[in-house]
Amino acid sequence: MSRYLVTGGAGFVGSHAVLALLDRGDEVVVLDNLSQGHRAAVPAGVTLVEAELADTKRLAEVFASWRFDAVLHFAALSLVGASMREPLHYIAENVGHSLRLAEAAIKAGCLRFVLSSTAALFGEPERVPIDEACRVAPSNPYGDSKRMVEEGLDWAARIHGLRYAALRYFNAAGSDPQGRAGEDHDPETHLVPLAIDAALGRRPALTVFGDDYATPDGTCIRDYVHVTDLATAHLAALTRLETHGSCRYNIGSGNGASVKEVIAAVERVGGRPVPHSIGPRRAGDPAVLVAASDRLRAETGWEPKLGSLDDIVRTAWAWREAHPKGYDDR
Ligand code: UDP
Repeated sequence: MSRYLVTGGAGFVGSHAVLALLDRGDEVVVLDNLSQGHRAAVPAGVTLVEAELADTKRLAEVFASWRFDAVLHFAALSLVGASMREPLHYIAENVGHSLRLAEAAIKAGCLRFVLSSTAALFGEPERVPIDEACRVAPSNPYGDSKRMVEEGLDWAARIHGLRYAALRYFNAAGSDPQGRAGEDHDPETHLVPLAIDAALGRRPALTVFGDDYATPDGTCIRDYVHVTDLATAHLAALTRLETHGSCRYNIGSGNGASVKEVIAAVERVGGRPVPHSIGPRRAGDPAVLVAASDRLRAETGWEPKLGSLDDIVRTAWAWREAHPKGYDDR
């Protein structure tokens, strides 16, 4: 059995990673300030340290209280739009917190680190599907903050022997197939939960952000990857770090789906129409973002098990239907 520190473990992707670790018998300590995470997303029996990552004294105490085999770092500001309004805040928080966390881990002798990174690193990609050799050129401060963290970790790898895995997520969606966790953001900005809520009559009609892109149906294409598959990618990365050096992986399902195809999937799976209208483009949205996840598959044996859009929608629908107010319902 191993023990892991999971920052942001009360958030969407973090909480699913916690479940994946518990399911294989590991011990987990969650560190979260609950600014976006939910206390109810932390399973019973898991220690929740409610703390700010800026609190270096507290961080040192956490590392002194437990010996961790690795840190999984999910806690971050993650809204592209907000980062365009407050660039310095985003960069200062994401970079400062991540690198101080890595520093505290290194000081405590914990030399394995898994970073939640992002497809936003690639900005308007030079080619699709996006592999790890594609040019890194973020087009917003959020993406750039993750680039800076990756670079900082690289220095720590060279100088301190840290082994890190930077996992660049594409569009995380869906929820735990056993219904133990789900997606609950405030405000909710993501397509899948918004489309489901519109179908359930819980929100006004969905606005499709543009239908004049250079794609077959004119709407943006994204790579929706099931959050439980993302969680198992973390396990695969942890295993690889036991025997190999640092790595960077792009993680998607490998299948692109347009906004209209997501709406069609929600209507098919949910059996109800998704009221929607076509609106203007959203600033900063590239037409197509699809991952090439070949490196992760080849180097770790990872395979998505819930790779279809219907799996994503089915699990997301079940959780949202059961939790009309998200985690507040529990
Ligand atoms: N989208 C949309 N209407 C919405 C929210 C999202 O048309 O109300 C589109 C958005 O333009 C993008 C896709 O859905 O092409 C996925 O957006 P989301 O915000 O879920 O994830 P992102 O791709 O920004 O990480």
